[in-house]
Formats: sequence, structure tokens, C-alpha cells
Amino acid sequence: METILFKHVDVPDINRLGVYRENDGYEALRKTVTEMAPADVTKEVGDSGLAGRGGAGFPTGRKWSFIPKGILPTYLVINADESEPGAFKDRELMERNPHQLLEGVAIASYAIGCRKAFIYIRGEYLYIGEILDQAIAEATVAGCLGTNIFASGYSIEIVVHRGAGAYICGEESALLDSLEGYRGFPRLRPPFPAVKGLYNQPTVINNVETIANVPFIIHKGPAAFRAHGTEGSPGTKVCSISGPVNRPGNYEVDLGTPFRVLLDDLAGGMKSGKKLKAYIPGGASAPMLPGTDEYIDVPMSYEGYRDAGSSLGSASFILIPDDVCILRAQLRISEFFAHESCGKCIPCREGTPWLAKTVSRIERGEGREEDLPLLLDICDNILGRSFCALGDFSTSNIVASIKYFFDEYEEHISRGRCPYGPPLAAAAGHAAS
Ligand code: SF4
Repeated sequence: METILFKHVDVPDINRLGVYRENDGYEALRKTVTEMAPADVTKEVGDSGLAGRGGAGFPTGRKWSFIPKGILPTYLVINADESEPGAFKDRELMERNPHQLLEGVAIASYAIGCRKAFIYIRGEYLYIGEILDQAIAEATVAGCLGTNIFASGYSIEIVVHRGAGAYICGEESALLDSLEGYRGFPRLRPPFPAVKGLYNQPTVINNVETIANVPFIIHKGPAAFRAHGTEGSPGTKVCSISGPVNRPGNYEVDLGTPFRVLLDDLAGGMKSGKKLKAYIPGGASAPMLPGTDEYIDVPMSYEGYRDAGSSLGSASFILIPDDVCILRAQLRISEFFAHESCGKCIPCREGTPWLAKTVSRIERGEGREEDLPLLLDICDNILGRSFCALGDFSTSNIVASIKYFFDEYEEHISRGRCPYGPPLAAAAGHAAS
């Protein structure tokens, strides 16, 4: 399968500028700044059908076109906060081929008239921040970044900013607050970042993988990009797969490839003795699906998972085998969202701990019949009533796990214990609540 983003990933020292340039690196940027008008760059990216790879899937060219003309400065901010559970694709893209991202940043910056771009990287990726800093320094000395690049008159400075490990800072407006030095709280919209973003100036925020696609689109053209994927989801996608498979890791596939190919061919299938019970296609925020043939054959595309009742999101596939209690898996997810709720709005701040407490009660065998409608009622009071998407995300897997694994919830309640063994809460020493 031909790849775009991982094409050079096995070339020794591709992270070094010289090797990257021997493999056509920075040629797309040279073409951009010496031969193309900014509007033409945006049009090429729009024609390619590239959509945001961070989870939302918003068309990238359209996002760039929202930047108003004549208001300066404008900013490009790369969201490298990658904190969705199960997601580790951006880490590999930045670690293995940092110049591919930097070239994309410079092209996108040129398109929107930006002279100073930021890469907001999660604090835990400390060593990758250093890789990026080194790559920026190398490219600046060589005239690929910095002042008057390729003698075009265009200049771009790229700054790597370390976050402090909060999930909410992956939400784009909270990320901007954090970048400005404030506590990461989501902002009220409108105004949208394209109008008033970083320092109240027009700002585009794009994910790492999204921007890493841009050099290929400019170098080879939108048609070459559209030769991959489906009509509704052009291009490729780097999928992270984790759980009891033989070869967990990142795999780049054409969008629309059935999940079965990722599971069996690329990841080597389930480990001996394990059977797939359920899987989550897009990190903790996407609804889980049963591990039946019908759902294993879902095409990995935005429309494929939408039609299946879930979401491709960041394509972070978390597998749950049949010897794992679905309520324990759900409890981990609910505790995560309760912990990461920023506390700005009441439905999420109050609702997410109640979801975790209620799932915990059922999981350890102290659940009541009325707890299932209670869970759904709490979800109903969070979904669509929260300030940002984290609130909605916290309900996705509660609703899906009750829908697909109702019997398992019922069994915990009727037996008064977890059918899979000692209660997690007791084992972890949690106080009953
Ligand atoms: Fe914060 Fe949750 Fe409200 Fe988002 S939904 S603003 S994370 S409290």
C-alpha cells in the first residue's frame, strides 16, 4: 500500500535536513514561496479534500479561507497536544520525520499570511520538542526557514511551545489560552479563532497530521492526494492501534480501508487466546462498537464510522478483548473524563464525577436497577448542554456500552458482583461511594 506520511519513515536519518532534502524535502516549500500566490496554495489544499486529522474532520482549505484579508498579524498554531487516550500517531510523525511537519507549517503559514507560527506540543513529549527545535535550527541555517527563505522575500519563524499535560488544552480555544499564558479554559464562540484567535488576531489551528500532508499535496498535486481514500474522505490516515494484538503501533492506510485489514493484516490479529469483544475507533471520546463481523468490516473513513454509529476521530483504535469486563473498561474512561473536566461549566463539572461514581458502583456489585436509567439521565443532562465537546465525549461510551452490552450491566446488578472477578474499585483501594 503506497503511503504519503510514512513514505520516508524508514529512510535512515530522514530527521536530518540533508537526508530530507535528498528525498525532495523542502521542494514543495520552494515552489510555494517562489511560484505560487497564497490564494493558490489554499485552493490546491481545498481541491485535495484534505480534512482535519485531529478528530473533527473539518475541510482544511476552507478553514484557511476564513482568515480575513488585511488584518495582521495572523497566526498558525499546530495542535500537537495529542492527549486522546489511545492516540500516538503525531508522536511518531514528529519524532521520525520532523522536517515534513515543519515544511507543511511553512507552506500553510505562507497561505494565510502568517510570519510567526507555533507548535503547541504536550509537555510529556519533551524529547520530541527537542527534536523539533533541532530541526528548526538546522533548516533556519540552511535558509529553508527563517528570514527571506529561498530568497523569496518571505520569512517565517516557528516556535515550539510546551504544554503542561492537560487534556482540555487539546481543545483549540483552550490551547490558545494556554499558549497566551493563561489557564486552559475553552473560549466562548463566536468570535471564532479565524477572526479572533491567538492574541485576538486571526488564527488557524491545525493538527500535526493534517499539516504533514501539505508538502505532498503541493509537490504532487491534489489529484495525487485524491488517488488515495474515498470520495468523501480523500487521502490516507495514520491509525494507532493498541490492545491485545500481535503488532500494536501506527499504520498508514488509505481512508476507506476496512478495519479488518488494520486488525488482521497490519496489526497481526488478536493475540493467541484473545477474541475481540469491542473496540473504540477514535480514542476515548468515540462510541465503542461490538467486535462482530459487521463492525470489523466497517470502512475506516469519516462517513464509514458515522454510518456505523461512531466516529473515526483521530483513528486511535482501542481494543477490548472478551476476557475484560466492559464496565471496567467504561470505568477507566469515565474516570478519565471526570479527572480532565476543566470545571468551567456545571453539566460537565458535576456530571462527569457522577457518571464515574455510578459506573463504579455497578461494577463492584452494588448497583441498583434504577442506576441504568440514572446513567442515561445524567448523560442526557450533559450532552448538548456543556460548554465544550469534552462534556459530550464523556457520555459517548456510557450510552454505547449500555446499548451494546446491556446484559453485562444487568448481570452485575442481578448477581451483586462483577462476573469477571474481584471488583476493580476494591482492588484499587477506592472508597465506596
Ligand atoms: Fe470544561 Fe467540561 Fe465544560 Fe468543557 S464541558 S468547558 S471541559 S467543564
